[in-house]
Amino acid sequence: MNSQNNFIMNISVIYRYVQKYFDRYLAPYGIGSGQMIFLLLIYENEGITMQQLTRMADFDKGTTTKGIQRLIEQEYISVITDEKDRRVKRLYTTKKTGEIINVLYNFRNECCNQLMKGLDSENVEEQFAGVKENVRAISPQQKYSEVRIGRLDKLSLSDYPGLVAGTIHTSGCNFKCPYCFRRDLVYIPENFSYVDPVDVLDFLNKRKGILDGVCFTGGEPLLQPEITDFIREVKDMGYKVKIDTNGFRPDVLKDLVSEKLVDYVAMDVKNVPDKYAMTVGMPEGSLKMDRIMESIEFLLRDPVDYEFRTTVVRQFHDRKDIEMMAEWLKNSRHYYLQKFVDGPQCVRRGYSAYDDREMQKLLEIVRRYIPHAQLRGVQ
Ligand code: SF4
Repeated sequence: MNSQNNFIMNISVIYRYVQKYFDRYLAPYGIGSGQMIFLLLIYENEGITMQQLTRMADFDKGTTTKGIQRLIEQEYISVITDEKDRRVKRLYTTKKTGEIINVLYNFRNECCNQLMKGLDSENVEEQFAGVKENVRAISPQQKYSEVRIGRLDKLSLSDYPGLVAGTIHTSGCNFKCPYCFRRDLVYIPENFSYVDPVDVLDFLNKRKGILDGVCFTGGEPLLQPEITDFIREVKDMGYKVKIDTNGFRPDVLKDLVSEKLVDYVAMDVKNVPDKYAMTVGMPEGSLKMDRIMESIEFLLRDPVDYEFRTTVVRQFHDRKDIEMMAEWLKNSRHYYLQKFVDGPQCVRRGYSAYDDREMQKLLEIVRRYIPHAQLRGVQ
């Protein structure tokens, strides 16, 4: 047997013996080795989110969800909703964990000491960290497992102004704009098959020199947990990057701009603040307008090339709304009024557009404040 065979076999032996060790000693506490790792990480990082935990422990999302569920049922951890962002759930250890935490540390340390007996522990740890990084490279499916891509348009002449681009449609959106024409990316069907992010990166790698840019659109791309890293990889290939966003994640937007990972931002401004929630299909008072405001104010400071755009729908916008928005967005670099198009893929049916002549009139109002504003979708 050659040394490479020995190496793989030894890893397998270590894994099985360590599992057996923990199974035996942790059985009285009703947990396994994976849950012990979760408990120690949560104990050392009280308030950690599930996503952060998944990343830190290097498990897949499903394993983390199952493990955490079991720990909640056994009352080892509790989940508390973040006060600032109610979508974020934070994990905390309970008193019950406090009672066994020393035992867990002892088991872990004893196991570790036993494994390292007679070895230069620092050196071994370093070598193992290297092996872990190497093994990640042969597990590409795990990479960007949090990035949900619904569709890849391999060639677009219209999504990125002036460039030949590929367009990545991410799945999922926090808004439910009734006139949105991407129903399947908002209400994701049960049997929806995502495009593998690694395949998308492979495709972009092969198209270097043929495509100039990559457009990230939605759903809402900035809600995707690993989107910054994913975009960084696209940017490193030399592409120009455009982001279409609803402005709900100013924090991610600012990071992308400050890291120079984005070249063009197109932000939807849905309506005047008083009608915003209604226009994005959310109950009155449930929308954090401060985030939208923050994104608008950030872009108005001109940190990157950008445009604002409004899809004009007869049932949501009147002349007064359009004028108020134009005043609000005065001094913006580019502003477009987009003509609404009804279709079977809309979130809800029955909405209507202004005709081309009416759109021209609305544009005239806008141009009193933003002289270079333009129309889209109008002949
Ligand atoms: S139009 Fe944009 S923000 Fe509105 S639901 Fe569709 S993807 Fe989300």
